[in-house]
Amino acid sequence: MGNIRVLDEQLANQIAAGEVVERPASVVKELVENAVDAGATTIDLTIEEGGLNLIRVIDNGAGIEPDEIETAFQRHATSKLLSSADLFRIASLGFRGEALPSIAAVSRVTCISSPTKDGLGKQLVIEGGTVQQSGPVSAPQGTEMSVRDLFYNTPARLKYMKSIQTELGHISDYVNRIALAHPGIAFSLKHNGNELLRTPGTGDRLQVIAAVYGTSTAKAMLPVEGETPDYVLTGYVSKPELTRANRNAITVIVNGRYIRSFLVNQALLQGYHTLLPINRFPLVTLEIAMHPSLLDVNVHPSKMEVRFSKETELRELIEQSVKKTLGRDRYIPEPAASG
Ligand code: ADP
Ligand code: MG
Repeated sequence: MGNIRVLDEQLANQIAAGEVVERPASVVKELVENAVDAGATTIDLTIEEGGLNLIRVIDNGAGIEPDEIETAFQRHATSKLLSSADLFRIASLGFRGEALPSIAAVSRVTCISSPTKDGLGKQLVIEGGTVQQSGPVSAPQGTEMSVRDLFYNTPARLKYMKSIQTELGHISDYVNRIALAHPGIAFSLKHNGNELLRTPGTGDRLQVIAAVYGTSTAKAMLPVEGETPDYVLTGYVSKPELTRANRNAITVIVNGRYIRSFLVNQALLQGYHTLLPINRFPLVTLEIAMHPSLLDVNVHPSKMEVRFSKETELRELIEQSVKKTLGRDRYIPEPAASG
């Protein structure tokens, strides 16, 4: 019959977009991860209408070489993965080379980037995956990505978007967590002109906790640390009187990546043991560092789920470190703090 064909690039990108770009927050995640990977020390986000009108991310990172900007928007184009061996020791956040072509397939993107401080850069405009305009432009070192009219050409997807407030909630949640993951980067987030987050970028994680959750919450946090030959833990856990009705204020960071992990959550709760009221959860920001070869991040396209190779060692380290922190303070209950 001979019915098998190879999809053309634009269609392939649109299909990939269905997986990578679920909602505005997914675009924010991909763009911010690229900025982090580029070594940025400031990342400024401007969002309009829950990200459906505009998502703009400006970073002061390494920038993209002018003659490579168009390549960056091609499928499986990445500067981060050189060989299949790299796949098993991934250090950067991105590595699939799928984000930019997927985003550009379902929106109108303007990318301005410069790898140098000479004030010269290149601008590329892509709409629905088609290059509209490309040329030199004056630009500071770094990259400015503006994504407008997300899903304008995929009405079925657009229809599934929730309210502006819901979409903004997902964006804001992600930005809070990536800011907690990278206290050395100064983040700012504006929505429809209102500033929702600003972190100082000093490297002090407690300042980020204060920016995200408020200063009284930051004051009710205790430092946690510990290490084994394979894992190093750092972070903060709340005193047991500061709890939430859900796990949303638990942020787990593995090698700079914000992840979800049942194993880590369980170990944390074990560490509190009976100190937590029933059905209450602590506020936690926990960073786990390890050699990249001990971690498999290639489990799911969103890279949110990971696999650890020495689970028991990690579980015990977390539980014991939390116990040590809560015990060391010879825990004395105080009047309930808000937050
Ligand atoms: P990946 O991050 O998986 O490599 P992307 O599609 O997200 O794939 O990006 C493709 C390439 O474009 C990256 O590998 C990087 O070289 C370049 N790039 C994207 N965003 C930035 C940025 N903000 N700063 C510098 N380079 C960038
Ligand atoms: Mg990327």
